[in-house]
Amino acid sequence: MERIYIGMGSNLADPAEQLRSAVEALAQLPQSKLVGVSAFYQSDSLLPGQPRYTNAVAALDSTLAPLDLLDALQAIENGQGRERLERWGPRTLDLDILLFGDQVIDEARLKVPHYHMQERAFVLYPLAELAPADLHLADGRTLRELLAACPFVGLERLSQD
Ligand code: ATP
Ligand code: MG
Ligand code: MG
Repeated sequence: MERIYIGMGSNLADPAEQLRSAVEALAQLPQSKLVGVSAFYQSDSLLPGQPRYTNAVAALDSTLAPLDLLDALQAIENGQGRERLERWGPRTLDLDILLFGDQVIDEARLKVPHYHMQERAFVLYPLAELAPADLHLADGRTLRELLAACPFVGLERLSQD
């Protein structure tokens, strides 16, 4: 069994509702147990001209193989109307595998740890609600070190209802 962290994002069609639906779908995954969900955070899109994003991180314990989990996550994305029109375009739902235990995965369809997580405040701050600060990433840096290098700028933590 591996502890897996999944980054979730949406900026179309009621993003908070998209994330709540995604959490319900994650809770139904086979061979898996949802162990935590962070608060939701809002931030401006990294690309100009897109609606604001809502992001969160979920923690899962699972015995699924990495590519089987990726297939399941893409099925959830598609089920919530994800269309891939342009790279980094607006989306109803994005589910990215951030960490898969301490595995390093370098396959055409799946790179873990997720390559951009260390510079994304909207990934690191929700992750820090679920993961220990001394969590090590593949290159040996800890979550604490990554947070120190990534200021909490432009993020708005939403109160949970
Ligand atoms: P970014 O990767 O910058 O967050 P994105 O999430 O918008 O961009 P997508 O269009 O969701 O990118 O995914 C493009 C491809 O990335 C997917 O088809 C998938 O095969 C691949 N991929 C590679 N590594 C991962 C990962 N760790 N989690 C999810 N998808 C991944
Ligand atoms: Mg993404
Ligand atoms: Mg993605």
